Amino acid sequence: MTAPPPHLRRAATQLASGTLAASALLEACSGAPTTALPLAFGAAGVFLAPTLLKNCAWYGPVRKTFLTPNREVWLTIDDGPEPQQTPYLLDVLGQHGVKATFYAIGRKILQAPELSRRIVDEGHSLQNHTFLHAERSFWAAGPGRAHSELELCSRAICETTGATPTQFRAPVGFANPFVHAAAAAQKLSFIGWSSTGCDGVAHHPESVLAKIMASVRPGGIILCHDSQLRGMAPKSRAALLDSLLSRLKSEGYSCCLPLDLEDNKHPAQG
Ligand SMILES: [Zn+2]
Repeated sequence: MTAPPPHLRRAATQLASGTLAASALLEACSGAPTTALPLAFGAAGVFLAPTLLKNCAWYGPVRKTFLTPNREVWLTIDDGPEPQQTPYLLDVLGQHGVKATFYAIGRKILQAPELSRRIVDEGHSLQNHTFLHAERSFWAAGPGRAHSELELCSRAICETTGATPTQFRAPVGFANPFVHAAAAAQKLSFIGWSSTGCDGVAHHPESVLAKIMASVRPGGIILCHDSQLRGMAPKSRAALLDSLLSRLKSEGYSCCLPLDLEDNKHPAQG
């Protein structure tokens, strides 16, 4: 008999630990031996800890770097497309001659189809970042929800732009076994990051820039955002991106889109 693929084995293992946790909890609540409660918390912890660690590869592979002999980095931009920010970012990318990967939210793609097509038409990569981006609850998604969130986003990308997504990034980098299984079933490579300035929340541009530059390395994946934050000026992200690209260039870095990730086995992967 052929062994099941690794992601299904991981899902089965964690389902078993989840079941163990539930049964132990029930036993504890019904006044059974006091060993049941620690067992329940222990099993739940085994399930939750890898889920709530950003880019954790315990339940499946997560690419956080890529192999390159050159002084290159991969620029990625999450949470758009947004008409108040993304067009200005595209202008800056064009001025610098840089291509980026946009991990986009399916709902926003449907709301901004022209902008989505512009991203693809200008040579950037448009990839899957779930349909709703429910960052407070997606980590707890069951199999059905995980599958539909990824499938609906891929469908939005495909039907709006004609492009076929091949990559997935989890909201906030949190993913349980069902999310990993859904990505594998839909043939989406799971992509994390190695550098971020935490610009997805309120921030100061100088500190974002400093954090990214402190951690950037050849083969690194840089995470930025194009979502609109309250109190943020319409072109603020574009100004930040302009500064980042200038700094990278001044330190000898160029930006690229790794094309063949399957053949790009890097020791730091996962
Ligand atoms: Zn996001």
